[in-house]
This record gives sequence, C-alpha cells and structure tokens, in this order.
Amino acid sequence: MEWLENYNKAFLNYSGNNLKRALSEFRVALDKCPADATDVSSDIMYHIGDCLVRLSHPGAGLTFWKAALRYISDEREAMKILEKINSYGMVKRLTDYEDDYNAFKSIQLKRFLKTKISMSFSNLTEKEMIISLIDKQFQELYQDSKFQILSCSSKLEIFRSFKIVFPFIVKDEIKESSNIIFYDFSRKIRLKAGVTCSCGSGLDYSMCCGSIPEFDMFLSDTN
Ligand SMILES: [Zn+2]
Repeated sequence: MEWLENYNKAFLNYSGNNLKRALSEFRVALDKCPADATDVSSDIMYHIGDCLVRLSHPGAGLTFWKAALRYISDEREAMKILEKINSYGMVKRLTDYEDDYNAFKSIQLKRFLKTKISMSFSNLTEKEMIISLIDKQFQELYQDSKFQILSCSSKLEIFRSFKIVFPFIVKDEIKESSNIIFYDFSRKIRLKAGVTCSCGSGLDYSMCCGSIPEFDMFLSDTN
C-alpha cells in the first residue's frame, strides 16, 4: 500500500491548493497503485486532470478526464467530470461566451497551423498577430445578436465554415476538415453529438474523438 502514502500526500496538497506538488504526488500514486484498482486510478486520473486544468493546461487535463471516464463505474462520479466538459467537448469555462470563443479560436488556430510545415508558429510576433486576427473576427461574429441564440451545433457549423484570410500563407490552402462528414460505416450513422463514439470508448462522440482540441495543445512549441 505504498501508493496510499503518495495518494494521501497528494490530497493534502490538493486541499491546500498546492497544485503542482499535488500533481506530482498524484502521478506517483497512479504509477504505483494496482492496475485492477480502477476506482482508485480513475479517481487519481480525475484529480490529475483537475490540477492540470487549474494550472492552465486544459488540453492535458481533458485527456486525463477522458481516461478517467473510461474506468469510472459510479454514475455520480462520472457526472462530476461530464459537468466540467461543454458541448464542444472542451473544458467548460465560466461563461458561454468563453466556451464559444475557445471553440472558435481552436478551430481557426488549427486551420492556420495546418498551413505551416512545422505545424507551429514561427515566432511570437506571428503568434500574437494571428491570435489577435482570430479575436477580431470572433468579436464581429459575436456582435450579431442572432448568433448568440443559436444552438451549439449551429455555432459549430458556422465556426467550421468561417474562413479567415490569414496573411503569409506559404502552402496552398489545406483540404480542411470543415466539409468532412464524420460517419460510422459499420453502424451507418453520422457521427455527431449524442452518438456514442465509434472508437469504443463508450463516450459521446462530441466528448471523445469528435471533440475540439484545446488550443494549448497547439501551442506547446511556442510557450
Ligand atoms: Zn472516440
């Protein structure tokens, strides 16, 4: 029961808001705890995810939450995690505005980075310029009061078809996923929110393979 020591230390730090310390203790506890103790490991994974999100790494945090969801048997425990994920399959922020903004930003950022051979920003100036361009476009979109009352899936369609003309694009425009329809051929159903993901995770498609990546996942090289 050596892992229990790390587990307890982790919780002590967690409740004292010492998140970095808690994170490293949780990681050790996860490594050491028995593989068949799925209740324990899913609980640890949930807390690792929570620490990461609160330390401004939503992408990594979400990965742990999704892993935890695969092992959780208790429905109420699963709800605790699902409540923290929004309809875009991203970490839920304080307001709908932030949720919309993050989804839009992530989709546009991905589109821009796909035009780069390195898949990352060349420098800080470029990064700031592109993000401020995305911000401006979102503000314009959001000012339309008709936009604000749309459903999440309608907003998503707009976000995916919204083409920002980015400067300095070297490669040809990429055949982007905007017009791709995700389809499960074995079940003959279109993959969208509310449909169980075809990867076998048991999760809703929009919270699994169909979720929008958090933009911190694109930025790891320039941080
Ligand atoms: Zn999946």
